[in-house]
Amino acid sequence: MRKKIVAGNWKMNNTLDEGLKLASEVVNMVKDERQGDVIVVLGTPFIHLASVSKLIGDTKDVHVSSQDCSEHESGAYTGEVSVSMIKSTGTRYVILGHSERREYHEETSVQLAAKLDRVLSTGLTPIFCCGEPLEVREAGTQDSYVCSQLTESLFHLTKEQMSKVVIAYEPIWAIGTGKTATSEQAQEMHKAIRKHLAIKFGDAIAEDTSILYGGSCKPSNAGELFSQPDIDGGLIGGASLVARDFMGIINAY
Ligand code: PEP
Repeated sequence: MRKKIVAGNWKMNNTLDEGLKLASEVVNMVKDERQGDVIVVLGTPFIHLASVSKLIGDTKDVHVSSQDCSEHESGAYTGEVSVSMIKSTGTRYVILGHSERREYHEETSVQLAAKLDRVLSTGLTPIFCCGEPLEVREAGTQDSYVCSQLTESLFHLTKEQMSKVVIAYEPIWAIGTGKTATSEQAQEMHKAIRKHLAIKFGDAIAEDTSILYGGSCKPSNAGELFSQPDIDGGLIGGASLVARDFMGIINAY
């Protein structure tokens, strides 16, 4: 059975104190108000990982994610953070291949494949992001664009490894723009992603893979998006910075 996941991506927001305040608000709301069996994840900047993991403790209600990792294990890579370091903070998830990293840091599919291998070998769960830019959507070639991203970074994995991967489909034209994909557009792409995974990994793995939607998801549209058969939750940017909004999305299931 695939898992329902609502993951926040704080991006480069919040000082340590602000982050701890936000995490503590979310943890308390989840404890008191969560209705469904949704896994809640907070994707924080590196500097928050240890403190937020400590704050969450053993509650298992909320998990922590980094927003990236190095493809190297250790050594002379100034400014980089390895998966072992991330794991040592109590963090369980790693967001990989966010469009902002692909665009501003020129992350390639090959590099992302190496990062995935690192994350999986350390026993953490990757949330692998994919999604097309506006010009690709306008040309109507979004399915082949997104499927190529999956082929290039995921298709070297074994079935066992693939069963540990979470995918986030995030149309770039919908990220932070207030322009959400319609639930039909999102469902269509999620179905195409699942079909593509099935070609390589078989129906059982494809059916069990959680595929999250990301792109201007908010409490007012989350219910409609999450009601689609192939949408298993969300990767949430802006709305994850306000505990009440994030909780509204968690409870949209
Ligand atoms: C994101 O950056 O992953 C994202 C989905 O952002 P937003 O929700 O703000 O569109």
